[in-house]
Amino acid sequence: MSNVYNLFSKGASQGGTFIQDAQGEARYTYEEFDALTARYANFLSGHGVRPGDRVMVQIEKSAGSLLFYFACLRSGCIYLPLNTAYKKDELAYFIENAEPSLILCDPKDSDQFQQLSNVPLFTMDESGVLNYEVADQSVEYPAQDRDGDDVAVIIYTSGTTGRPKGAMITHSNIETNARTLSECWGWQRQDVMLHALPIYHVHGLFVASHLPVMNGSAITLLNRFDPEQIISLLPSSTVYMGVPTNYTRLLAQPELNHDRCANMRLFTSGSAPLLTHTFDDFKSRTGHTIVERYGMSETGMNTSNPLNGERKAGTVGIPLPGVDCRVVDSEGHEVKPDTTGNLQLKGPNVFKGYWRMPEKTAEEFSDGRYFKTGDLAQTDADGYISIVGRSKDLIISGGLNIYPKEIETLLDNMDGVTESAVIGLPDPDFGEAVSAVIVKDGTTELTAPSVTAYVKEKVAGFKATKYVFFVDELPRNAMGKVQKNVLRDTYTEQIEDSF
Ligand code: AMP
Repeated sequence: MSNVYNLFSKGASQGGTFIQDAQGEARYTYEEFDALTARYANFLSGHGVRPGDRVMVQIEKSAGSLLFYFACLRSGCIYLPLNTAYKKDELAYFIENAEPSLILCDPKDSDQFQQLSNVPLFTMDESGVLNYEVADQSVEYPAQDRDGDDVAVIIYTSGTTGRPKGAMITHSNIETNARTLSECWGWQRQDVMLHALPIYHVHGLFVASHLPVMNGSAITLLNRFDPEQIISLLPSSTVYMGVPTNYTRLLAQPELNHDRCANMRLFTSGSAPLLTHTFDDFKSRTGHTIVERYGMSETGMNTSNPLNGERKAGTVGIPLPGVDCRVVDSEGHEVKPDTTGNLQLKGPNVFKGYWRMPEKTAEEFSDGRYFKTGDLAQTDADGYISIVGRSKDLIISGGLNIYPKEIETLLDNMDGVTESAVIGLPDPDFGEAVSAVIVKDGTTELTAPSVTAYVKEKVAGFKATKYVFFVDELPRNAMGKVQKNVLRDTYTEQIEDSF
């Protein structure tokens, strides 16, 4: 009886509003949640989907698509959400790798999926309407028996090298992480979740949906992020979860102020680093300190700044209860506080492995079964963790390591800079050259030589920028992560002529 759906049905059994629209009108109650997830689960079983089968979903966010997710959990099948941006060749790979038993896609993509697969294919439109009448399906459906260790969801991680890997997330991973976060963030049933994140990713699908449902709280579900709409809805919400770019966009709205946020209890940020000045500006504009937390597809949430206690800007807080984090050097020995190393973790939140990639899975775990996150981190004397960057983004110039975050922090604090990304570009002498891509704020005149002179004044010469580029905006994916691989490709091409 370890199907995690039971946790959610318990929350739903309290009744009340499940999803409301931007006008505060209840679109679905929790009674309807129960009935509809049963109907969808019956629909799945009726089309031959059995526990453990994969159901691949590439659809727009809607109340219907969220209900469909919970129905998949209830039916015991493995829910496999795909980013709506994936194109045909990528989809062909996912289909071959995951061998789904049923596919749900947007109506506009159905021809494409038909060319790629012959399993039952259904569509759901942007308003959440399935192209199959489920009204006749029974509203009775017992949640299928699952072991805690059975896979509930597969999320493909967007590796920059090699093929995407399907992270297998179990019923128990989901349950333990949801319970821990609900407790740590003091979730109350009367909380109202303002939900504007995509639901093909752990942030929007797990964190922002599980906590309200397990507590029977209402969700104001928005199909996309619109800063003006968010600000207009803050007075009728209590919790907002965003990626850092959401916060910078909110800050760009003059209407954001203390009054608008008076009803809010909690703002959280994650999926990418929150700049210290965003944290500070948000505090002075709204009176709220954003709770920054850190997680991954493979692990759910690992650390969080505390609800009660100091929330330190530039850190992702302390390990969540039950999560064992350690920072190690290249030999696997733990490093001292304030020293950068590789972040590894262990805990009930850590995934089962990569789907059909046992070797890749084995590579990503240390001898003691710690998961190698691929993130570089430091722990301070109080146990707060700072993420310094991805280990693959580490710059090695003349055999010396340069952590991009150190130079980015320096540049971000320089007059005239809004934000920066530091990357390594090929260099005939040193292997890699430290290179900065900068967004100016227009307040101070900046040139490549003036930036380099500033960096040279502050840090050792080997960390100084060789190349400096100015852009209007850094390239980011939908989760607000700066796409350093895109920057590396663009600027490698530009500088190659100079070799
Ligand atoms: P994903 O699997 O797409 O959720 O990406 C996980 C990665 O996002 C982590 O390994 C980190 O590199 C990054 N990440 C998530 N949260 C944070 C955060 N608060 N600060 C910095 N990086 C983060």
